[in-house]
Amino acid sequence: MSSQRVKIDGATKVYGDFKACDHISLDIKEGEFFTLLGPSGCGKTTLLRMIAGFNPIDEGKIYFNDKEINHIPADKRNIGMVFQNYAIFPHMTVQGNVEYGLKARKIKGKELTDRAMEAMKMMQIDNLKDRMPSQLSGGQQQRVALARAVVIHPDVLLMDEPLCNLDAKLRVTMRTSIKKIQKQLNITTIYVTHDQEEALSISDRIAIIHDGQVEQLGEPMEIYTKPANMFVANFIGTSCFLDGEASGGVVKILGVKELELNIDKEYKGKVKVSVRPEYVHLGAPKEGEIQGTITMSTFLGDFMNYEIQIDNGPLIEVNEYTDEMDISRKMNDRVSLELMSGRICVFDAETEKTIM
Ligand code: ATP
Repeated sequence: MSSQRVKIDGATKVYGDFKACDHISLDIKEGEFFTLLGPSGCGKTTLLRMIAGFNPIDEGKIYFNDKEINHIPADKRNIGMVFQNYAIFPHMTVQGNVEYGLKARKIKGKELTDRAMEAMKMMQIDNLKDRMPSQLSGGQQQRVALARAVVIHPDVLLMDEPLCNLDAKLRVTMRTSIKKIQKQLNITTIYVTHDQEEALSISDRIAIIHDGQVEQLGEPMEIYTKPANMFVANFIGTSCFLDGEASGGVVKILGVKELELNIDKEYKGKVKVSVRPEYVHLGAPKEGEIQGTITMSTFLGDFMNYEIQIDNGPLIEVNEYTDEMDISRKMNDRVSLELMSGRICVFDAETEKTIM
């Protein structure tokens, strides 16, 4: 199966005086699983629809390999699409749905049935081939939609929140099978979601979109551990921000705790220090340490989640995992918070951009 590189160069879409996509540039590699991740209304679907050819592009260019496709109509772009609402034909059987795109390409006879069967087997719906969509569960319908999208051997597969109508458990199962099938077929895939966990688990690379622009582009681990700015740190995972003052490579947090960090020694000024729940150790209250009071504890199986009111600071979440969980902790207990200095991020308080 062929696979294409997708290059987006300054793609812009304007509705009235509102820029839904504002000069977005991305270079998506052949066979890559690439995710557009961002909050509702940030412009993900608009960008995907421009790639599909459903929305005309107002400014910029889109290329499949080296070919500019701005003026190629959607039905000539050889793309497979999967949407959140399945979009399978209710009056056709599973097999009829899967064969539809092949028939539209004038494929007949043995090739038609062989290719449809191959796609249905891959999605594990071959035993359902004679059923009507109304006789299928949500997960099965979504598999039909996937089979229908890949059976045409698309150059690029576009998926817009394909799992959002499924229950939590099925979403996890389906995302694993989507990832496996995508790797098996090696189709360049552009996937839209607002679910950060889904994006982290499924993608080779992620573009974080906010207000029609790319905030950060990178591999899941990089985006999680090295967010480019406070928006990304807040959007991906859970982050709490503590006020600090930087000078000579040392950050004084909440006027209490000094940490020598790997930041430019020349940098001087107000900062925000982001802390994730898993990057803090709790200990007995100690002078010179950040201290707080436990206001809530929630047992979540392999870890305990605490909500802690920091003295002269915000509420913070801290997770203690099984190996270090202290089950004697209770509400109103006083604790010290030791931040893992190698894991925290520091942002300029004014620009909100990362300085470490
Ligand atoms: P969601 O996750 O909610 O689907 P999204 O990130 O996919 O959101 P888009 O559907 O791309 O967002 O929409 C981006 C912005 O453009 C939104 O503010 C939306 O209201 C606006 N928008 C989208 N389509 C149109 C249109 N046809 N006319 C006017 N504004 C539009």
